Amino acid sequence: MHIQNKMLINGEWVDALDGATIDVVNPHDGSLITKLAEAKEADVDRAVAAAKAAYPSWGALQASERGHLLLKLADKIEECAEELAQLESLDTGHPIRDTRNLDVKRTAFCFRYFGGMADKLEGTTIPVEEGFLNYTSREPIGVVGQIVPWNFPLMFTSWKMAPALAAGNTVVIKPSEITPLSTLRIAELMLEVGFPPGVVNVIVGYGHTAGARLSEHEDVGKIAFTGSTATGQRIVQASAGNLKKVQLELGGKGANIIFEDADIQKAVGGAAWAIFHNQGQACIAGSRIIIHESIADEFLDKFVALASSIRLGDPSNPETEMGPLTSKLHQERVLEYCEIARQEGGEILLGGKKPSDPSLANGCYVEPTIVRGKATDRIAQEEVFGPFVTVITFKDDEEALAIANGTEYGLGSGLWTKDISRAHKFAREIHAGMVWINCYKRVHPASPFGGMGKSGYGREMGFEVMREYTQVKSVWVNIDAKIPPFYQR
Ligand code: NAD
Repeated sequence: MHIQNKMLINGEWVDALDGATIDVVNPHDGSLITKLAEAKEADVDRAVAAAKAAYPSWGALQASERGHLLLKLADKIEECAEELAQLESLDTGHPIRDTRNLDVKRTAFCFRYFGGMADKLEGTTIPVEEGFLNYTSREPIGVVGQIVPWNFPLMFTSWKMAPALAAGNTVVIKPSEITPLSTLRIAELMLEVGFPPGVVNVIVGYGHTAGARLSEHEDVGKIAFTGSTATGQRIVQASAGNLKKVQLELGGKGANIIFEDADIQKAVGGAAWAIFHNQGQACIAGSRIIIHESIADEFLDKFVALASSIRLGDPSNPETEMGPLTSKLHQERVLEYCEIARQEGGEILLGGKKPSDPSLANGCYVEPTIVRGKATDRIAQEEVFGPFVTVITFKDDEEALAIANGTEYGLGSGLWTKDISRAHKFAREIHAGMVWINCYKRVHPASPFGGMGKSGYGREMGFEVMREYTQVKSVWVNIDAKIPPFYQR
């Protein structure tokens, strides 16, 4: 497997100016995968300068030519699918069956979608006073900084870069220092298919150095960020200097409401997918099951049985359904929440600890964990970001809605019912950017993705994200207007 361990600046693979490196570790067994160049402030400045120099010609390129390069990249990703699936699994601990069937396919799909989008972005003509023509055009922003987390690094590379490039921006992307490998490999493929030097620059560094410098940089016109709410708040502060545009995809505490008339079998499977896929490391995870008290026991019997059957283990084994968490630090954090659950008097129905299998002892594993708790508990309010679900019961619809909306987040949410009026009423009243009815965690490049409240602002995907990566210009033309005679002598 090919592993790139330098950073990409202006089409060249280079070391850090001060020669610093970062250790990249395999979360399955704690072994060192590689050491790679660590970008600091001066390296970020070099990358931004390269993106700035590349912008005029990239932004002026015919949109269909930019689209064509993205389409070629999508094909290339499919050619290299197996290698990318293995690399992503190695670096993140995602089970290989998921990286093969989901992550790589979705990444190619996203680049292809925005490759097709590049030349579909139209302006408008506005009906103003007689004698004038008023039209709008959408223009790229210039240099865009992109900062992404470690939970879906490959997919997020496409979610971030594809629309930004389609719109005509140049990019400096900073993957998480924990999982940088797939972004670097995608950048290699971009050079292979012919992206010009400087259009995409990849720097790997820590948040408080490289990330902070990118966020405050005067020559960066926009920061697109995915990560925690606390970091999002720091980025907003750092952006104030040049008033750059900011787009924030932050944390979540997804409500998954199961009504008494739900198809229980489907809800059990859907709720397990909502929280246990990717070890629960998903901003949109259904981390709160809010269930009607009359069906709670029946549901929980089936749900606990299903969760205990999930095959936990080495992510490179195609049989594995759940791998390790992505870092040691994160494993400790999730185990700390298991402790908090005990202190709060939560009833631990499953898990709450590391697996006992000695072959997993050096990895960052946590068992699927199901806890019955109260809506006001910390475990029902704070984002755990692991295979940890809090179950809360309700008596009536009013209480269900109050519990669902009783957090500071507002990202993904789901509900399971056969009552169509109730479903749409809740869809309208839930404070969340996305609502799934009788399903959970559906995403598609054409469908807007993003949150409300402390889950951030701005939207990924579809036409919405093309608006985020462009700015609108309004042009007035006097055709034969009868202008009032102000100041005319
Ligand atoms: P994080 O905020 O710690 O880090 C995310 C990225 O920000 C990393 O690249 C990190 O290096 C960088 N960073 C850290 N400090 C910075 C600073 N001061 N300035 C600039 N950059 C900085 O988040 P994480 O732990 O990597 O990821 C998990 C979080 O991401 C969770 O809260 C999760 O909900 C959120 N997330 C949100 C979405 C979404 O679309 N809403 C998707 C995935 C993950």
